Amino acid sequence: MLATVLHSPGNIICEEVSEPKIEKPTDAIIKLSASCVCGSDLWPYRGLQPVNAPQHMGHEYCGVVVEVGSEVKTVGPGQFVVGSFVISDNTCPHCRYGFQSSCEHREFMTGAQAPFARIPLADGTLVATETMPSDDLIPSLLAASDVLGTGWYAADAARVKPGCTAVVVGDGAVGLMGVLSAKQLGAERIIAMSRHKARQELALEYGATDIVTERGDAGVAKVKELTGGVGADSVLECVGTQESMMQAINSARPGGSIGYVGVPHGVELDGQMLFFQQKNLLGGPAPVRRFLPHLIDLIMARKINPGKVFDLEVPFTDVAEGYRAMDERRAIKALLRV
Ligand SMILES: [Zn+2]
Repeated sequence: MLATVLHSPGNIICEEVSEPKIEKPTDAIIKLSASCVCGSDLWPYRGLQPVNAPQHMGHEYCGVVVEVGSEVKTVGPGQFVVGSFVISDNTCPHCRYGFQSSCEHREFMTGAQAPFARIPLADGTLVATETMPSDDLIPSLLAASDVLGTGWYAADAARVKPGCTAVVVGDGAVGLMGVLSAKQLGAERIIAMSRHKARQELALEYGATDIVTERGDAGVAKVKELTGGVGADSVLECVGTQESMMQAINSARPGGSIGYVGVPHGVELDGQMLFFQQKNLLGGPAPVRRFLPHLIDLIMARKINPGKVFDLEVPFTDVAEGYRAMDERRAIKALLRV
């Protein structure tokens, strides 16, 4: 089959690889309904994360089970499933506390930019839908696998509650999903930080009440101005740079919470600064598996439309164009038709 392989920064190729097979009795093989490019795929693509050997790309997926190993009990051939980008057993202590992304048997999914993929620990990782979803729901279900689940976790970690004021730092796919999630969790005011017209519009559609175009200290000053000098109850950090992290921390009020889901690159925080800021910080790779059943219900009932975040669709064989468009910020998120 053809699959997406990153050979070196900027050198992404759709090439022939062997089809995945059941390797362990806890594996499942799925046929993907669609695939996509993640903002985090751009880190190695841009050379900001080393590429030491050819990498099979792709960690977001949904599709139909074609085969399961002998120990898989909860899903079977013919079922439509969505899984997290983190493989988990869903039974260890961390999983039971709802932190499946720190599972004792954690693996990070790879190789999902392909027509077929092997999912380890299928029972713990995959959630089946009750019925076969219609085609127009596929982008939204695919989004649940990572960007929606991650945006939801950012809102959850930032302790978004009914009536609260939330700030979302970052207008990439995860930031926009953070806006949607904050709205679903009852935030009354949602301040989206974006300077990009199309992204601002989608943020407003997903529930943002204010747009702040300023960045850094000027952005923080604007948030303070909008919150009567107090700062926000909840801040969702969805970028992962030093500037965005400080913008997030400084935008929260004392006692407020920051959910940070942008993978940090070059972020360093000072102990004294953290001490005197008096704010809650929780982040990391999202335990998407915790939220999947609820997110799937919302999507199947058409209560949310996270799939709108895909503003570019390319045939799978044109994967290089998907990466380029996202790298150049011509596209928020690229869907790959397999
Ligand atoms: Zn576990």
